[in-house]
Amino acid sequence: MVSRVIPVASFDLVIFGGTGDLARRKILPGLFRRYCAGQMPPEARIIGAARADIDVTTYRDMIGEAIAEFGGSTSVDPEDLNAFLQTLSYVAIDARGETGWRELAKQMRRKVVRAFYFSVAPGLFGDLAERLNNHGLTDDDSRIVVEKPFGRDLESAHQLNQDLAAFFDEGQIYRIDHYLGKETVQNLMAVRFGNMLFEPLWNSQFVDHIQITVAETVGVGGRGEYYDKSGAMRDMVQNHLMQLLCLIAMEPPARFDPDAVRDEKLKVIRALEPVEPHHIVRGQYEADQDNPEEHPDYRTAVENPKSRTESFIAMKTHIANWRWAGTPFYLRTGKRMVARSSEISIVFKDTPHSIFGEEAGRHRNVLSIRLQPNEGIKLGVTIKEPGPGGMRLIDVPLDMTFADALGPDGAENVDAYERLIMDVIRGNQTLFMRGDEVEAAWAWTDPIIEGWTNRGDVPKPYASHSAGPDASAQLMRRDDRDWREVTP
Ligand code: NAD
Repeated sequence: MVSRVIPVASFDLVIFGGTGDLARRKILPGLFRRYCAGQMPPEARIIGAARADIDVTTYRDMIGEAIAEFGGSTSVDPEDLNAFLQTLSYVAIDARGETGWRELAKQMRRKVVRAFYFSVAPGLFGDLAERLNNHGLTDDDSRIVVEKPFGRDLESAHQLNQDLAAFFDEGQIYRIDHYLGKETVQNLMAVRFGNMLFEPLWNSQFVDHIQITVAETVGVGGRGEYYDKSGAMRDMVQNHLMQLLCLIAMEPPARFDPDAVRDEKLKVIRALEPVEPHHIVRGQYEADQDNPEEHPDYRTAVENPKSRTESFIAMKTHIANWRWAGTPFYLRTGKRMVARSSEISIVFKDTPHSIFGEEAGRHRNVLSIRLQPNEGIKLGVTIKEPGPGGMRLIDVPLDMTFADALGPDGAENVDAYERLIMDVIRGNQTLFMRGDEVEAAWAWTDPIIEGWTNRGDVPKPYASHSAGPDASAQLMRRDDRDWREVTP
């Protein structure tokens, strides 16, 4: 199966922070892949803008090396790479001063889509927005893309929204949550709203509970200073897990258009109940027993021996509306866990009565949506165990692993960043967070964090390469349930 690629309109994309880690690892390799796929028009222009005082040749060399290193599994054709690098230029710029802005204005063309990617620290968002405006670089059709973290609480997120709103309409602001750019996340919507099969069962009458797990095997790495001020709740739950929860729980939007979808997500966030203290488990990883020097415990890694920041969190929450009243949502995310795995599981209720008798065994249907690795969707169904010896029931998966079902071309691995940047150029905001959504998410998160801070809660230690602290398993067992195994 060959995927259809529709080229986007011609554009000038300015990447502020164009020499940074994110630009080199994700944004530019992603653009290169879209160039090779024929989606980026050859006359489109990418302008790197950052503090380093380098010339365009040095910048192209830097990005060429980055693409060779981070470009993905497919080999890089030197001719394609060279042609792509010719679309790049560079401006040394100061977000807080006057350096570089006139030069940037000179390089930008008229009558093409203008997009500005703020791949810099959020403290610079306001400065960039103001200077773009002062130097007349934007018009009503220009777009800005902003990265996470979008604030660290409701107040700072509100301030950021206001800083941007001073110069841009909401329809011009693209807040990235790269989880929303994942193929399977969009497939979740296709499965829910493109099939008759699931939607009638998608409520508290038939769903026992829902689990969302985002497990990482890595520790905090070189991001210790940032991470220790943030923690798993701010870094993962407030944005990524919340977005996944919204897509699972939202009502069917009338149309698949940006505001219809985002209105429904916002209603879910506003209906989230506060989380009770005994429904939260926080943890900090211990040193890796096999290699404690290289992989020390959390507090050593962040160089804060008294840190109370969580590298793991598990919680139970509820959505107070007609569809979901009584169905718990269990969320869990952490670093240095047993496997890298992001999975959503919809666990359906038992059949009301077993005609086969309890000795035949009973299995619940589970729809599991796997975001990484091995993206795909599986539905566990109960069948008879083959062979003689009476009726014994077993659970087998109806497996929609995309690579198997669609073949290597159909399951072409379009990275989340590639898809999202192309959506920016197309002017499609469906997979981006709206300002009110982000603020609503912080309004739910803030009192939870405040609660544990005021209680002086200390995170529980957990072994590296485990499923988190024992208390996380107990959180489930108290409800007569279990977490799904975290498997690679
Ligand atoms: P980085 O420190 O590697 O790069 C920062 C970039 O900003 C550099 O190009 C630098 O020249 C530029 N810069 C700094 N001060 C400037 C100024 N005054 N004027 C103009 N340019 C200036 O950072 P990064 O890791 O690339 O992250 C960029 C943003 O993306 C941050 O907000 C970060 O939180 C976010 N983010 C990064 C990642 C990641 O994987 N690196 C993931 C998610 C979000």
